[in-house]
Amino acid sequence: MNRPVRTRFAPSPTGYLHVGGARTALYSWAYARKHGGTFILRIEDTDIERSTQASIDAILDGMGWLGLDWDSGPFYQMKRLERYAEVARQLIESGHAYWCYASKEELDAMRGAQRAAGLKPRYDGRWRPENAAGKALPAGVKPVLRFRNPDEGTVAWDDLVKGRIEIANGELDDLVLLRADGVPTYNFGVVVDDLDMAITHCIRGDDHVNNTPRQINIYRAMGAAVPAFAHVPMILGSDGERLSKRHGAVSVMQYAEDGFLPEALLNYLARLGWSHGNDEVFSLERFVEWFDLEHISRSPAQFNPEKLSWLNQQYIKVRDDHLLAEEVAPRLSARGIGTAVGPALAKVVALYKDRVATLNELADAAEPFYVEVYPGAELLAQHVTDAARAALKDLRNRLSSVFWERAALNQALKDTVAAHGMKLPQLAIPLRVVLTGQPQTPSIDAVLEAFGRDIVLARLSRHV
Ligand code: GLU
Repeated sequence: MNRPVRTRFAPSPTGYLHVGGARTALYSWAYARKHGGTFILRIEDTDIERSTQASIDAILDGMGWLGLDWDSGPFYQMKRLERYAEVARQLIESGHAYWCYASKEELDAMRGAQRAAGLKPRYDGRWRPENAAGKALPAGVKPVLRFRNPDEGTVAWDDLVKGRIEIANGELDDLVLLRADGVPTYNFGVVVDDLDMAITHCIRGDDHVNNTPRQINIYRAMGAAVPAFAHVPMILGSDGERLSKRHGAVSVMQYAEDGFLPEALLNYLARLGWSHGNDEVFSLERFVEWFDLEHISRSPAQFNPEKLSWLNQQYIKVRDDHLLAEEVAPRLSARGIGTAVGPALAKVVALYKDRVATLNELADAAEPFYVEVYPGAELLAQHVTDAARAALKDLRNRLSSVFWERAALNQALKDTVAAHGMKLPQLAIPLRVVLTGQPQTPSIDAVLEAFGRDIVLARLSRHV
């Protein structure tokens, strides 16, 4: 019988939730959901200097915005120090760990000498019990606890993404388990927690591949079963370098602010390094149904902001007008623009939703429906000519009494251009400039209808 699937996302709170972390979280979450398992959130806050409450909040915000809900946690490693101390005692008793009193200066000197001799710097086992017998404990040095790594043999595992990986124990150091202040190192905390939380699948970034053999050795020393590992390749920027701020937005909440829909970002991340044939646009439910570790790519994925924008556009296009209005209204109000007075926002966003890539662009497009626009002098000179002004004046008269509905508005436009011997764009473009400050808009009769008679007449009156 297989154990019930339990996965976890275990971020270190040393910054915001970035897209790489979000993708790892998504894969862990989806794997648990697909198998009816449990998804755990664990905050690995043992780097006391770099961990902050602001980062914890940012991670929780990001997970919440994406809708990646966890079944258990968040657990905080700094609240589990007692437990690590307990496991440490067991490892000391079973001969798998020992106190090391080497000072930092001493270790630096040791590594310096090794490098000078052309050797790879590594801990030389000077405080292993057999070497330390009878040695006086140096005064003033608080010891660290080291793992006694096996000297012989190899560590191997069948990585669910990368295939079989094998490392000789001779390559591995006696790593530190507990620092002098009793706080565990990443490799120790992660093993104790993954064991206590009965994690079956560790899905994480492949920057941890080097840590895995060390962790497996600790599992073995504890006599515990080793979970399965799936190491997901990195995300690279367009230049092939590891994705970072240099490549643009990398924080999940920055995407929220920039007007991306969580569904679109999740869809993009799902597809970044995993594939299901040529399918590009799919729901989260479908992703959970399809997701498997076998189809995670073995090579790094390249982040493509244009593709993400395109996906966001696809999601905005088919989104319900009222939902979009609810998402655009706070963006407008953040600009000091109210939408209570004026056309229904749902009607306005409906006009533009197939022309924008983000909610912010949708807010830009909606803005002129709620605030006075002042077309630039150049635009006015170019489009609102004397001839145009005469036609606009005529149009204003017709619009003051026309039935306010697309077909009738369209007829009024046609009648006006006919009376002035013009072509429709010669009227429509100046009209767009006057109403929205832009020479391009969706279909002019639909725009007029959305604005409503009062605003249209008021804005026309400023120019004619
Ligand atoms: N705290 C580690 C990190 O953020 C977690 C690695 C793991 O999932 O084991 O990279």
